Amino acid sequence: MIKKCENHGFFRGEACACGEVGSLILSDEQTERLGRFISGALRHFPDDLGLAMNQHGWVDVDVLVDAMRTRYKWSNKEKLFSIIESDVKGRYEVKGNKIRARYGHSVDIDLDYPENTIPELYYGASREEVDILLEKGIRPIKQRYVHLSTSVEKATEVAKIHTDDPVLLVINAGEAQNDGVSMLAATENIVLCEEIPAQYLRVMQD
Ligand SMILES: [Zn+2]
Repeated sequence: MIKKCENHGFFRGEACACGEVGSLILSDEQTERLGRFISGALRHFPDDLGLAMNQHGWVDVDVLVDAMRTRYKWSNKEKLFSIIESDVKGRYEVKGNKIRARYGHSVDIDLDYPENTIPELYYGASREEVDILLEKGIRPIKQRYVHLSTSVEKATEVAKIHTDDPVLLVINAGEAQNDGVSMLAATENIVLCEEIPAQYLRVMQD
């Protein structure tokens, strides 16, 4: 659930870090539904909802709220912001009256983040796909960008959604970037790249 603390704003769970129980904004079910709607709207099907998205992925907040209210009458702008502001993964970004997803797009947009500055990045793969990645490099399958992790822990966490026993690949990001491969720092945990050529990959030895 999402609640609001008078002093610290929106939070997820029973109580704010300060101990206040706060007031209820969204139930678990509402959080789930609106969360899925916002993710779909900003990452996958803005056109189906009539949302005009610019080349960097931005959509007008009020237009998004209108589309949301058409489907969920009980929703409103405050509930939208309760989801955005309490999202610990930093999935969304708001600037003025515009909003966008920071990563996870399948729509064809060009994100304009600063270049990554971390020399080594990580990608978790399944046992079955490792050999082909080492031979052909990593390309996005359904998504616009390949999503790399800035730490071993995060890469493992992401990979475990799809496979029980991931193999971690180390990406020599510094060298790749020196050679002209662009890597975009989306959040402190996620770096986006159009394609990682195989020469910058190696299996992490444990
Ligand atoms: Zn508080």
